Amino acid sequence: MSRLLRSAAYGVLSWHDGLTGWRTSRRAFRTLLAASPDEVTEQAQRKLIQLLQHAYQTVPYYRETWNRLGFAPGATTTAADLIGLPLLTRDVIQQQLARLTSEAFAPDHLDIDCTSGTTGSRTSFYRDRGCRVARIGRQWGILEHCGYRPGDRRGMIWGVADDLPRRRGALTPRTRFRRFARANESIYCRVMSRHDMLDYHGRLRSFRPAVLYGYPNAIEQFARFIQRERLAPIEVKRIFCTAEQLHETQRELFQEVFGGVVFNLYCSREHGCAGFECRTHRGLHIDAGSVLVEVLNNGVPAARGESGEIVITDLLNYGMPLVRHATGDLGTVALEPCACGCSLPLIARFDGRESDILYRPDGSVVAGVLLSHLFMGHSSIHLAQFIQEDITSLDVYLVAEGGGPPDLRNAVVQESRSVMGPDVDIRVHFVADIPRNPRSGKFQQVVRKVKHPARARVS
Ligand SMILES: [Zn+2]
Repeated sequence: MSRLLRSAAYGVLSWHDGLTGWRTSRRAFRTLLAASPDEVTEQAQRKLIQLLQHAYQTVPYYRETWNRLGFAPGATTTAADLIGLPLLTRDVIQQQLARLTSEAFAPDHLDIDCTSGTTGSRTSFYRDRGCRVARIGRQWGILEHCGYRPGDRRGMIWGVADDLPRRRGALTPRTRFRRFARANESIYCRVMSRHDMLDYHGRLRSFRPAVLYGYPNAIEQFARFIQRERLAPIEVKRIFCTAEQLHETQRELFQEVFGGVVFNLYCSREHGCAGFECRTHRGLHIDAGSVLVEVLNNGVPAARGESGEIVITDLLNYGMPLVRHATGDLGTVALEPCACGCSLPLIARFDGRESDILYRPDGSVVAGVLLSHLFMGHSSIHLAQFIQEDITSLDVYLVAEGGGPPDLRNAVVQESRSVMGPDVDIRVHFVADIPRNPRSGKFQQVVRKVKHPARARVS
């Protein structure tokens, strides 16, 4: 009953906020979910042509760039034709912001947003109102598919302060209604002190959320805190992880501590919720009605089972079309279709971000995720961060229970060298805490300050 009331209140709130119409997009997503492979391809193709033609006709940057290349999107254009077009990098977006905006939209019909800026500076971009509404609807379609419905109470562990409701000030009937409709109890995870986590634990105990939602590294910190302090359990049905890479050990920990099923999502501020896990949890399905995903290895499509950079063409944002946006995320193309029967494309796994790679002295590349997997056998290590200032050395920062056992330092040096090479100088630092990125609230496992000696493939 309470869920239905909250769900109805959410409908009223979205109408009040000018976001009506999201249910139409949710319906469109549900239809696509049940479609055959041919229908999925046909719809993605139709949306791509529509978007490319709109970009060509109304966006100066694309018109000029594509004219120079002799490319004009037409009725027979396919996804394969994209390969001849340049990638849209963060630098281009930053430098060409005005020329990337569609002339078909009045400025007051566009919303500005920023990337989280984990690495380098923030990048601004625009999104039209219709895109915002469509994203909300499609995201609800995805969440419902994973068992999270509007009105379900949600505990949110989040790193972007602007996304969270302000908790200060007196509650008016209007803010009270908004809180009821949002069904959300949140904690800002950039810094979570013992006091913050105790307070949040108390709030969640009385709120009784059905869903936990947030950054996996922050949820891990909270889960370990509950274990360490032997606090009363918080039991949820579903746990949604986004914004950071989810490790399998975290999935097991969350299921053990919170009792719920874990779903990984691939979401970004630029493209919304682009990918999601189904009930088989064997990779992420891509919402082909929302984005077209290419996985590229040295500029050409990666083979099945191969890792490469994820490049996204956004099919919903007409205010500022993002065609072949180089996301900096790395992913592996699935070897075979998903056993769940859904025809949406499948990415087998995410391999972190391009900024999460380190270099060996010989210039070869190491995916940072390999290092974090190394320390799984050491239960005393709560948190590890790798900072590379130059290619002959690596600083490893560790938060370890009671400083860890006496041989921990040696073990960390040996295990790090097994990945980085025998000659690398490994410096181990035991610290009380490792701060998160001040802008995004994300935990950065790898910080690389050295420039790559040569462009190389991820090993
Ligand atoms: Zn599936």
